[in-house]
Amino acid sequence: MNKLTLKWAFNAIAQDKIERYCHNCNRKVIFTDSKKRRRNANGKTIYEYAIYKCEKEHTWNKLLKSYSAHTDIEGFLEEESQEVLQYETPKELILAEAIADGLQEIEIYVKNINERQRLDKLLALHITDLSRTQVKLWIDCGKIQIDNCHVKPDTRIRNHQTIQIRL
Ligand SMILES: [Zn+2]
Repeated sequence: MNKLTLKWAFNAIAQDKIERYCHNCNRKVIFTDSKKRRRNANGKTIYEYAIYKCEKEHTWNKLLKSYSAHTDIEGFLEEESQEVLQYETPKELILAEAIADGLQEIEIYVKNINERQRLDKLLALHITDLSRTQVKLWIDCGKIQIDNCHVKPDTRIRNHQTIQIRL
């Protein structure tokens, strides 16, 4: 099967340029997301940072989130991951183009959805050539599913779920 796999991340990570004061340049500069992530573990708390760099390669770590680990972690752990690179900001989808390219299915991995969004609203927003009414019809007839299961148009999409669109 001819399948297109997309990975959409719905959060501030996607904001790859930020203007802020650089303490080394002593002025306001543009910091760009290096796409590298660093996790620092301290006791039971893990902090995840995005590493931003100014033009002169000075770094600024932007705190993305912190969460609790189940056990104490000794000392100070550092880890850089490229995982985020695979995810991108949601883009416009044009199904007519996908069909013309011979695609039979589009699969979308969803990450970092902050609000509980309705599936039909979310897709109508990103699919250029389907109206919300058409999206609803596609969901009702099973052409659009979540995790390969039949769902309703008002089903809320959650983090780490996958949307299938059968063309
Ligand atoms: Zn700088």
